[in-house]
Amino acid sequence: MLKTFSYAIYVILQCTWGAFQTLLGIFYFIYSIRCKHYFYHGSICTERSDIGGVSLGLFIFVSDNHKDGFSEKIAVHEFGHTIQSLILGPLYLIVIGLPSIIWCGLPFFKKMRREKSVSYYDLYTEHWANHLGELVLKKESAA
Ligand SMILES: [Zn+2]
Repeated sequence: MLKTFSYAIYVILQCTWGAFQTLLGIFYFIYSIRCKHYFYHGSICTERSDIGGVSLGLFIFVSDNHKDGFSEKIAVHEFGHTIQSLILGPLYLIVIGLPSIIWCGLPFFKKMRREKSVSYYDLYTEHWANHLGELVLKKESAA
């Protein structure tokens, strides 16, 4: 009962306070409609073959690569981003989304990570997501 109640609060908050990112998540969910979907601790998880992980409000998107529990660890990390969405609400896309996209996609940062052995999770958005995911779910996240 308590679990159902907390999931309901989680969903309501993601659809109101986190509405911007949840709306983007709905579009990406529809785009991914043929993929595998399931509930993950109140969020809606979709597995795709072409991504590492993305979190948009109520929706998380993870790799379908299940080797060595990889997908579950990514899901814990992405769930951490959904907690950031609950904390930051309308600021999530600016404070977390934009820096993450730049950090993930810009060739300059890809080269820096590769050549200087900098972890992807060294950026504040990423290690904060790991911390929150592990704190709430009591499971190991990606590192
Ligand atoms: Zn991340």
